[in-house]
Amino acid sequence: AAKEAGRGTSRLFSPDLETRMQERVRLEERLRSALAREDGLFVFYQPIVDLQSGQVTSREALARWHHAEQGWISPGRFVPVAEQCGLIDQLGAFVLNRACQSAAQWADEAHVAVNVSATQLGKGTLIDVVSAALSSSGLPAERLEIEVTETALLADEHRGIQDLLALREMGVRVSLDDFGTGYSSLAHLRTFSFDKIKIDGSFVRDALERPECAAVVRAIADLGKRLGVRIVAEGVETEDQLALVRAEGCREVQGYLYGRPAPADTDAPLVARLNRRR
Ligand code: C2E
Ligand code: MG
Ligand code: MG
Ligand code: MG
Repeated sequence: AAKEAGRGTSRLFSPDLETRMQERVRLEERLRSALAREDGLFVFYQPIVDLQSGQVTSREALARWHHAEQGWISPGRFVPVAEQCGLIDQLGAFVLNRACQSAAQWADEAHVAVNVSATQLGKGTLIDVVSAALSSSGLPAERLEIEVTETALLADEHRGIQDLLALREMGVRVSLDDFGTGYSSLAHLRTFSFDKIKIDGSFVRDALERPECAAVVRAIADLGKRLGVRIVAEGVETEDQLALVRAEGCREVQGYLYGRPAPADTDAPLVARLNRRR
């Protein structure tokens, strides 16, 4: 059917592009209804460990989507769709609410870190969504961390910063995510004093083989010491990588070595059933 439609209608687009666009529209429709019914959407949690105390200080909330036909779709694929079709505020609110509810139950009182997209910042609406998630869950603001990337600040830096300041005013912490992958990184450190800086996992992954990646890890760790900002190394998978980031002076680590993202206890049975189905 796709081929037939392609033959008759595509003049500007190659059939390939047309098929991709149709797939995209279908994905968008599915995501819209998944969000409306809160069906197939989950929040997984991955521990972040303090190397000095050995304790889990926080857990990052990561959105997960199980599509009825395609199985698990990664956030790398559906978050951009949500951003482009106006669903990111709804997805963001879903994740914030779930994450605060879960964290309020954690016996160890670890923080929960929630990712926020560029398109959620600077509209003045994020603050209300965060306040609502905190008050309905009863989670103290001090236990919520918001992760933003540099690109989130590039779009409209001034208004983005206003939102971050308002969050800070509420007692919420703010982390700079995927540090080293964007540009004008250092300028952002001047406009807002982040509570944490997370070194992008790509540097950690290659640090043992590529001296320039190890140098970036070290430079960011040194910067953290001078600025008095905690540095988190993302993507630590092996003992050797752990030894390296520890030696370079990173304070916290996150990665498969300490734990993969996993569902909340209440979702675990359903997730296990979905995993057996595919
Ligand atoms: P991120 O915020 O940088 O999250 C870290 C990513 O690294 C996660 O991918 C996590 O599963 C992965 N990771 C953690 N440890 C390791 C490791 O040891 N090795 C490897 N190879 N990967 C590791 P995930 O869950 O696929 O999420 C990808 C990105 O999607 C996130 O990157 C974040 O930018 C975005 N994202 C996820 N959930 C949300 C959300 O609720 N809202 C928004 N706006 N973005 C989200
Ligand atoms: Mg993150
Ligand atoms: Mg990251
Ligand atoms: Mg990332």
